[in-house]
Amino acid sequence: MTYDKNNIFAKILRGEIPCNQVYHDEYALAFLDIAPAAPVHVLVIPRGEYISFHDFVDRAGEKEMNGFFKAVQKVAELLELEHNGYRILSNHGADASQAVAHFHVHILAGKPLGALLPK
Ligand code: AMP
Repeated sequence: MTYDKNNIFAKILRGEIPCNQVYHDEYALAFLDIAPAAPVHVLVIPRGEYISFHDFVDRAGEKEMNGFFKAVQKVAELLELEHNGYRILSNHGADASQAVAHFHVHILAGKPLGALLPK
């Protein structure tokens, strides 16, 4: 599978479509999910062209990986989520229902989130 430069998050990175930005740095961009699944639902994406978590870990350098995951933690801190807790998740591929083929981490918080998956 090759990276599709026209996926929606690539367009957000290029500024071609808007987002509700929460944080950005040289490694990552964070913005509100358009269809929130929790009171706090933020997506964090790397600036590089990676299809999924699996692809990111395969191809990104250590600096890029470190910078990205530091950015995820920075977003949690900015939103003061470390006190009550938060969940991070990333979908890879069909069985996980990955809808956008640009690696992203979901940050979910703002209420007790319950079980990991619906029964
Ligand atoms: P996933 O199933 O992990 O690929 O999740 C993709 C997420 O992207 C979903 O939670 C969508 O609600 C979200 N999403 C899709 N388009 C946009 C957009 N333009 N701005 C913000 N979030 C989006």
